[in-house]
Amino acid sequence: MRRVVIAGNWKMHKTQAESLEFLQSFLPLLENTAEDREVILCAPFTDLSVMSKNLHGTRVRLGSQNVHWEESGAFTGEIAPSMLTEVGVTYAVVGHSERRQYFGETDETVNFRARAAQKAGLKPILCVGESKQQRDAGETEAVITQQLKADLVGIDLSGLVIAYEPIWAIGTGDTCDSKEANRVIGLIRSQLSSADVPIQYGGSVKTANIDEIMAQPEIDGALVGGASLDAEGFARIVNYQS
Ligand code: PEP
Repeated sequence: MRRVVIAGNWKMHKTQAESLEFLQSFLPLLENTAEDREVILCAPFTDLSVMSKNLHGTRVRLGSQNVHWEESGAFTGEIAPSMLTEVGVTYAVVGHSERRQYFGETDETVNFRARAAQKAGLKPILCVGESKQQRDAGETEAVITQQLKADLVGIDLSGLVIAYEPIWAIGTGDTCDSKEANRVIGLIRSQLSSADVPIQYGGSVKTANIDEIMAQPEIDGALVGGASLDAEGFARIVNYQS
């Protein structure tokens, strides 16, 4: 039985004060949320510690938006796995397309990050997905196959979440058709040696399309950017109608 995993990715949004304000509105809205839904907030590094204290005893898990592969050293601007586990982080996003696109992330470094995360007890949320150009050229399957092959070297699938995020759908309002997302996620699943890995869809998920997306049999959850910034809106997404 695969888990349902709904994660918010706040990107570079929300100060500590704003994160606490969010939680104050958000947590009461989860009172009737189905037990089998894992709810995650991937917040900026500076919010994690204070959020962790405020999430104690709740069902919400914390995620970081990145993690480095070394435990310490001269890596300005990076964060070590143990620095995250120490403040109560459970998940770490690796390979988000914004990291690949703007910060030179490669499949090799994504793999290093995912492996280091698992070694430290963090659960990686591995993002894969094709660009518009690659989709138009009919390369979606080949791109994703290559990403999975490289990103999953040495990864224990039992502690993994995968997010299928077509780059052209991220932050554009241009959601991937739910049946097409279902098809690609089925393809991803067919390439994994375990049938139990939760695979999310990400790319302009919002309150208006979450029910349709979650109705697809291969889709186990969502990685939500912009629409996770609003507490009421994100609660509606978490409480999607099944
Ligand atoms: C994301 O940040 O992973 C994402 C999918 O963003 P958005 O929901 O805003 O498209």
